[in-house]
Amino acid sequence: MNEFRRSKELFVRSQDCLVGGVNSPARSYSPFPIFMEDSEGSKIYDVDGNEFIDYSLAFGPQIFGHRHPRIKQAVERQLERGWAFGTSTEKEVELAELVSKHYSSIDKVRVVNTGTEATMSALRLARGYTGRDKIVKFEGGFHGAHDSVLVQAGSGASTHGAPDSPGVPRELAEKTIVLPWNDKEKLKSVFEEIGGEIACVIAEPVFGNAGCIPPKDGFLELIRDLTSDYGSLFVLDEVITGFRVSMGGAQELFGLEPDLTTLGKVAGGGYPIGIFGGKQEIMKHLSPEGDVYQAGTFSGNPVTTAASIEAIKLLKEDNIIDKANRKGEKIRSKLNKAVKGLPVNVEGISSMFSIFLCSEEINDYGDLEKCDFEAYKKFHREMAKNGVYLPPSQYELCFISYVHSDREIEDTVDIASDVLEKVL
Ligand code: PLP
Repeated sequence: MNEFRRSKELFVRSQDCLVGGVNSPARSYSPFPIFMEDSEGSKIYDVDGNEFIDYSLAFGPQIFGHRHPRIKQAVERQLERGWAFGTSTEKEVELAELVSKHYSSIDKVRVVNTGTEATMSALRLARGYTGRDKIVKFEGGFHGAHDSVLVQAGSGASTHGAPDSPGVPRELAEKTIVLPWNDKEKLKSVFEEIGGEIACVIAEPVFGNAGCIPPKDGFLELIRDLTSDYGSLFVLDEVITGFRVSMGGAQELFGLEPDLTTLGKVAGGGYPIGIFGGKQEIMKHLSPEGDVYQAGTFSGNPVTTAASIEAIKLLKEDNIIDKANRKGEKIRSKLNKAVKGLPVNVEGISSMFSIFLCSEEINDYGDLEKCDFEAYKKFHREMAKNGVYLPPSQYELCFISYVHSDREIEDTVDIASDVLEKVL
């Protein structure tokens, strides 16, 4: 059974110098976070020398497994030549071409540093392009930690009881209309009432920050139709699903054509990245072609772009997405079989899944209230003691990489069913 003595000591130290002892609230969990220091393939290792099969995968990016040799070599080659020029580079051009090649809705992109920056900039562009201020998002949808979207936000914001953050100006929060996910009637009636004032609808194609909740039939298509009819933009937040559910993201899988797309996580091969893009007609409004301002010292950083280009090539050449999808199907079906009779529901698509401690189907953010959050905390800790690292909250997704072995999946299922019998 794993013990966490050194993590506990480090948490005492970190609380004196880091807010809450962490650099992101999503990493804060009870009784104290486990401090990691090493990784290889499907495994991560903590400061006490414990080994874990990792299903958090850095909150998503590591579909390749940790420390993939090709991404490592690409980064090392770039390090030999420099890691920050603040100038244009050929690699930025190569990356932009690769992204447009795989996303038919994208003519032009801008590369930034995080998903947060990508969605923040895409919303500014949507507002600048339409000349409207209001945006629509969905309850429990998480699009990063910036003001317009920290309104009924999922992920860490919900886990820590702050879906509406103090500090967001009321006047700005009022411009964000929040609707229930998958509720076609509410969406239609908002557009009928104030469609002409809505700059855009921003949505994750598959809900990923209030557990994994796929769209109901026709819901994304309805967003597409209404936004087109009322002259609003459809901003598809593919920070989680981009380069994960297929090379062309969820838009390829579902046959959608959004106006703007945001990417991150897998797109950076594990390096910090955000990308947003769309058709030239809209993108030309961005500075320096247009007057919607957006800029960044580290945007298109050479190390990140080197990792990203290699990651995208690798995804295709090694057929990583299909392989990871098959692992995802396997773990979901095995877990569901193993927990029959317990109030547990494993849902998801592709290489992502949620273990809801609840016997009913979860269709929206409100349904999560039916889940047993106290039991999940114990489940998370007991799994870690038994060598399986899960995301620390039921709001966050579990991810599987293409290098997780069948043996690891079997072991995980056996451990999870034993632990769940104990904690429920
Ligand atoms: N959009 C979605 C759908 C996300 O899940 C996240 C982060 O989890 C973001 C945006 C923000 O990305 P980042 O954490 O890289 O800023």
